[in-house]
Amino acid sequence: MIGRRMFVCGCAAACLRPTGAGAQPAPASAGPADPALVDDLVAANRILFDQGVVDGFGHVSVRHDKDPNRFLLSRSMAPGLVTPADIMEFDLDSTPIDPRGRGVYLERFIHGEIFRRHPGVMSVVHSHSPAVIPFGVSQVALRPLYHMSAFLGAGAPVFEIRDAAGPASDMLIRDRGLGQALAEAVGDHPVTLMRGHGSVVVAPSVRQAVFRAVYTEQNARMESEALRLGNVMFLNDQEAAAAMATNVSQVDRPWELWRSRVMATR
Ligand code: MN
Repeated sequence: MIGRRMFVCGCAAACLRPTGAGAQPAPASAGPADPALVDDLVAANRILFDQGVVDGFGHVSVRHDKDPNRFLLSRSMAPGLVTPADIMEFDLDSTPIDPRGRGVYLERFIHGEIFRRHPGVMSVVHSHSPAVIPFGVSQVALRPLYHMSAFLGAGAPVFEIRDAAGPASDMLIRDRGLGQALAEAVGDHPVTLMRGHGSVVVAPSVRQAVFRAVYTEQNARMESEALRLGNVMFLNDQEAAAAMATNVSQVDRPWELWRSRVMATR
């Protein structure tokens, strides 16, 4: 702790910016992140793989508990294999604070720009979860089919990357400008679809972000099935709001179950 404190400057936020000069120490944040938060982020990575939301691709981040201008994200690797040693700290420009040679995700700007634009967002999941993809490329809206996905009651906008990157992009959010365009599309929606690519899910905690990402994929799969049967009755706005309020207190129940499948017992 003493060693890190040496680099903490007493003045305002500007001092938290990287200097860009390689010889200088990385600017310290208010201290290392809470180990329990890192543990939740590691579990989140593995749960999202175990639950079929991410595969070799996709990532999940959490805002730093002691510095809102920092966030935590794994080094570039398959989420299902993430350990605490793989968790890196980034500033809101999505620049790693202490990379130590570790690779970083091409699409880290998704996280930095959403955290910058939306102060209430504490966690972001980006995935290519397969059942969601059709709703980003068709005219059918992703809507809450049942109570577990009531957070979809606010609707899920579709981000069209051609509006920001033109007609010849590789579909990736690979710089700050594209991250800003995506963050603007997110607005106050828990889920935003990315046409021809995937989705982003945001939440006020990492556990809620995982909950929403898992049930977004499940809702998408069931909605496609229900649409084949005929007309579909969705939750109305009042039902969605009421079910969403109830679910907030229930997030830890599936979390403990999902966690037990992917992490050693503490
Ligand atoms: Mn992607």
